[in-house]
Amino acid sequence: MKKLVGVTIVLLLILSACSKEKKGDDTIDQKVKSVITRMTIDEKIGQLVQKNGGSFSDSLIKAGGIGSILNEIDVETQNQIQKIAREESRLGIPILFARDVIHGFRTIMPIPLAQAATWNSSLVEQGARVAATEAASSGIRWTFSPMVDVCRDPRWGRISEGFGEDTYLTSEMGAALVRGYQGEKLNDKTSIAACVKHFAAYGWTEGGRDYNSANIPENELRDVVLPPFKRCANEGALSFMPTFNDINGVPATGNEFLLKQILRNEWKFGGIVVSDWVSIIQLVTHGVAENEKVATRMAMDATVDMDMASGSYRTYLKELIDEGEITIEQIDEAVARILKVKFELGLFENPYTNPSDFPAMLNENHLAIAKKAAVESAVLLKNEGALPIKKNVKTIAIIGPLADAPHDQMGTWVMDGKKINSVTPLTAIGEKAKELGIKVIYERALALSRSKEISNKEAVVKAARQADLVLLFLGEESILSGESHCLANIDLPGAQEELVNLIASQNKPVATIIMAGRPLTFERIVDKTSAILYAMHGGTMAGPAIADLLFGIESPSGKLPVTFPRHVGQIPIYYNHRNTGKPANNTTWQKLDDIPVEAPQLSIGNTSHYLDYGFEPLYPFGFGLSYTTFEYDKLKIKSDKLAQNDVVEVAVELKNTGNYDADEVVQLYIRDLVASRARAVKELKRFKRVHLAKGENTVVTFELPVSELGFHNQQMNYTIEPGTFNLWIGGNSNAGLMTTFKVE
Ligand code: BGC
Repeated sequence: MKKLVGVTIVLLLILSACSKEKKGDDTIDQKVKSVITRMTIDEKIGQLVQKNGGSFSDSLIKAGGIGSILNEIDVETQNQIQKIAREESRLGIPILFARDVIHGFRTIMPIPLAQAATWNSSLVEQGARVAATEAASSGIRWTFSPMVDVCRDPRWGRISEGFGEDTYLTSEMGAALVRGYQGEKLNDKTSIAACVKHFAAYGWTEGGRDYNSANIPENELRDVVLPPFKRCANEGALSFMPTFNDINGVPATGNEFLLKQILRNEWKFGGIVVSDWVSIIQLVTHGVAENEKVATRMAMDATVDMDMASGSYRTYLKELIDEGEITIEQIDEAVARILKVKFELGLFENPYTNPSDFPAMLNENHLAIAKKAAVESAVLLKNEGALPIKKNVKTIAIIGPLADAPHDQMGTWVMDGKKINSVTPLTAIGEKAKELGIKVIYERALALSRSKEISNKEAVVKAARQADLVLLFLGEESILSGESHCLANIDLPGAQEELVNLIASQNKPVATIIMAGRPLTFERIVDKTSAILYAMHGGTMAGPAIADLLFGIESPSGKLPVTFPRHVGQIPIYYNHRNTGKPANNTTWQKLDDIPVEAPQLSIGNTSHYLDYGFEPLYPFGFGLSYTTFEYDKLKIKSDKLAQNDVVEVAVELKNTGNYDADEVVQLYIRDLVASRARAVKELKRFKRVHLAKGENTVVTFELPVSELGFHNQQMNYTIEPGTFNLWIGGNSNAGLMTTFKVE
């Protein structure tokens, strides 16, 4: 006995010398191995199968034929299924329940694109924590989020689900969501597994049309599209999902270059790869597999571990193993990755859900986080003084289809949020107005955002005439963005422009609030309204957030995560483009109307622009106004000569020179002036959200390792070439103080 105690102590000492994670991993790896050695082929294949809730029998669970179920959110049903899995199946392997919890479960956060507009990673992380806690209280331990598809095309409906056009901002936001979902300890009952999607280049689908082909050179893939995925993998994301589309002709679900070479071999990703919804069968539709069996082999060869909903793995894997097309080692590896996640989430120890162990859904704290996110995500694009609402305003007319649209303000991909819980701008402004003794008149004017006729024009005109201020709520319904909801025309839909004209003709101060799932094109209305607040779809608490912003209780602080085009024909238009050999500027832009009749083909104006829409966007990336003003001063760089392993250290003085306490998002951009491949004219590399009381100033500092300044060269090696870099710090991508430094 004494000997045994001694051995145990030595063992414990050895184990405690190892790092915490390592210790956990080793035991989990052993447990995984020990389960796998006891599994039959059918049970192994069963783990690779994900079924939709309600589409299977209890006997399949009992036989160990299902590894994961998506879209079953009834806790009682889940617990019954889990009981069969744990107690009646041979090996007692628990089921992993999954759901698309994209921006909240019951408490709906702003859409991800709006979350990106907060440029506040810690707030975004808190939002994901709320989502995870609520989802876990409903038995969901796996979400298919974050979507980190960098996108330069607002026609694409799913731009709403991602974080915009920038690689660095998307990386930071994606990593924040991973941290928020997965929590501090994976086996905590409130932790849920993240799934990073859609790997990769879904945001590159041609013409912004969903599921369309993506053609992208490898260097651009590696420099622009892949970094957010890598960042999320490094953050410990437990799973990945390949995209539906083909990349340079090869659909992701069967793409060994992407999944096997990059994700598994280069990045050493050991988590689950789950197919997208029936995307294995779609390899046949794409035209790269002659039948479903071949598609199954291709997906397996690409290391897709789990088959979402198609049934192909269940139908064909065994046959493929028998025929020697798939090896048992491949199956074992996939099973191991799935079991590992189940062990890590603590599902073997705590397979059941008891909602009363969790904080209530939609509790005060959750709603406060949702409101803060909605406040910080709204971007003030224009303000000629209509906002914040002045003390002398006695009557407000609230007009427009989005002022009281509790369903639509939640945005796309809301599976479990309920409109009854949404507080609309009409309600929230109404309450505040009552407190202040302000009269509110409401006219919806258009039944839907896309209605083609203004209902009751007289009442609308009358409302505007009676008011000291018109608050015009425009935008799009939630169903006009999101998966497969792409638009060729992104102007304000329906008769909204006509509504703006009608209101503008009443000569009243107008503040326009746009609630949408994407950047819309609305240049024609800009001059007709005194202020524009781009609030996107702000979720459950959009109303109270907008009310606080309009009444000046909060100052707007959101910044655009994507360039806003003047016209749809300018797309793709993005800030981090290359210079071209003939860059346009205001003196070389030849305007359509200025072209003389039968003008000769001169070289004047031969620069990269459109005759009708020029070369500039309506609003640049990173742009957003405040009720206060900020001044940047004294940009200092610690050393302007740096070696490859040095860190750029910069500081800038920021002053709040206006009359409101407010936040500013300070942005750092760089440009590599000369390189073997032309580099972007600007690239975001750091940002910080800073709060300053009126009159206050501070010094904002940044550290940027030179190792982050590289790119993939012609040989596809990541390299930092010596040379001069410009560095800007400012409040958007088109502003800022500049300095330079040299990398040697
Ligand atoms: C989407 C995924 C989603 C899946 C499951 C697919 O259509 O592309 O993003 O996670 O459905 O609902």
